[in-house]
Amino acid sequence: MTRIAVVDNQKLKDMQLKKHIQHMCPVNRMGKECITIGENDGLIIDENLCTGCGICPKLAPDAIRIINLPEELKQEPIHRYGQNLFALYSMPTPMFGSIVGILGVNGIGKSTAIKILARMLKPNLGNWEKGGSFEALIKRFRGNEAQGFFEKIEKGQIKVSYKPQHVELIPKSTSGKVSELLKKVDEKGKMGDYTKILEIERILDNDIKNISGGELQRVAIAAAVLKDANLNVLDEPTTFLDIKQRVRLGKFIKGISSEENSSLIVEHDLIIFDYLTDYAHIMYGKEDTYGVVSGVKPTRNAINVYLSGYLKEENVRFRDKPVKFEARVPLKGENKQELISWKSVGKKLGNFSLSAKEGSIKRGDVIGILGENGIGKTSFVKILAGVLEKDSGEISENVKVSYKPQYLEASDELVAAVLKDALDKYPNQIINPLNIEPLLLKKLNELSGGELQRVAIALCLSKDADLYLLDEPSAYLDIEQRLIISRLIRDFAENKNASALIVDHDLLFIDYISHKLMVFTGQPGKEGIVRGPFTMEDGMNLFLRELGITLRRDELSKMPRVNKEDSFKDREQKENGKLYYS
Ligand code: SF4
Repeated sequence: MTRIAVVDNQKLKDMQLKKHIQHMCPVNRMGKECITIGENDGLIIDENLCTGCGICPKLAPDAIRIINLPEELKQEPIHRYGQNLFALYSMPTPMFGSIVGILGVNGIGKSTAIKILARMLKPNLGNWEKGGSFEALIKRFRGNEAQGFFEKIEKGQIKVSYKPQHVELIPKSTSGKVSELLKKVDEKGKMGDYTKILEIERILDNDIKNISGGELQRVAIAAAVLKDANLNVLDEPTTFLDIKQRVRLGKFIKGISSEENSSLIVEHDLIIFDYLTDYAHIMYGKEDTYGVVSGVKPTRNAINVYLSGYLKEENVRFRDKPVKFEARVPLKGENKQELISWKSVGKKLGNFSLSAKEGSIKRGDVIGILGENGIGKTSFVKILAGVLEKDSGEISENVKVSYKPQYLEASDELVAAVLKDALDKYPNQIINPLNIEPLLLKKLNELSGGELQRVAIALCLSKDADLYLLDEPSAYLDIEQRLIISRLIRDFAENKNASALIVDHDLLFIDYISHKLMVFTGQPGKEGIVRGPFTMEDGMNLFLRELGITLRRDELSKMPRVNKEDSFKDREQKENGKLYYS
């Protein structure tokens, strides 16, 4: 097979159109059955007959993809979901005594690969009608290093535990107290220790249905690692966690790793990925069409290769341009016009008190906001907008704010209706870069987390405002999408001469997007102290001191990287008081 055809028959309901597509196919016109209409009225493409002329994807761009496969993919896939559906080629290989990560965009088969390893999905080697088996996978890898690993999984000598990607779905299938759930899976007898480290002790008596996203994530991780397994498979373990919790989780996972143990991690927070994993695979291909797993590399190399967009060994370019971190746009002087300033602002909200000494925001600034959940970030911006009244202090003037909340509500409205203004006013500035076009005819409640996030960002930016507040815009987005929205928001603020405040827990995203930083310190739920805006160096120094970590720049990619605790660099930077380099 030299090409793959993927058809989404859910999006191709019009029988007239299907017949027209069939009629227009040049292979069909020659009397062969390249495109047929199946028993369930679904359109079927014979990949062996298709010449890749490109006519049918043009007639139904949302529903049909015809992609030429790279030369080396001569073998059948490891798994294919069905005829004209997604195919996964090759597998990641966990390594004992090491933490292995998988890097790649959404929809490229990462979850498929790890579900196969966790034995939740039987690999069918492209024979979806016959069904799959793990034995077939072992045969396929005969003579390869991975063969032994898969054999041990098959024989039960390697026990696998799995933390699913979408922890928010757990309460739909599980009920009862957190403690009851964890007791059931505590085969290691470590429930007391792990719940303490993961800071979920105080919610043990709560019902699983009543805990927050961040708590649910940590409960799901605890449930996975409490099992007596020697391969922990963790799919996106940092979603909903703030930076402190991410770093703590990283230390915890590293701490429970041993020579008899292996972990496989899928993660989009590149700084945590770098910190946590020893080796990494890169996954490439075409979203929702096919995915390929690269050979394993030490994490630093893998990240630099990933950022370069080119896999030398495989001779595959998977991104047009490399990602460069030195491309940071320098501040255009301090002569920018001031948008708003404040002095000695105070506010009491029940038992929570918020205070902000002195600061100002200039037009065109993109300011990253760092701080734990529940520390008053949203309340402060509401005060700036005049939506929430301050108890004391001065604000130069109230500004018009457009706000994208952290938790997104999905109604049954059509995307095209919700984004009417954005479509009219910003087709090139917002709609195209966020790739909204294919979503226009969907309802909000039909969108995936990442799609809903892109729509919410577009909606927030399309409103007329002086100050844009985006709360966790990176959630559910993959690395590529995070970099695209960073550039988009910076360009947007500059062109509109507006300002943006970005609350996020992905340090790389904050480093990439921000001109300046604000840091919220204090105690969540009790006291929030607003500090800054600072320069990036001053803000990061303040924040990293609280976290107890130091960041250096990678020599090649210039990406910030966490120094190994107590390493020479870590000690040197701490001694010099330079915990971060801009
Ligand atoms: Fe037919 Fe293939 Fe051309 Fe589509 S791309 S019209 S299936 S030959």
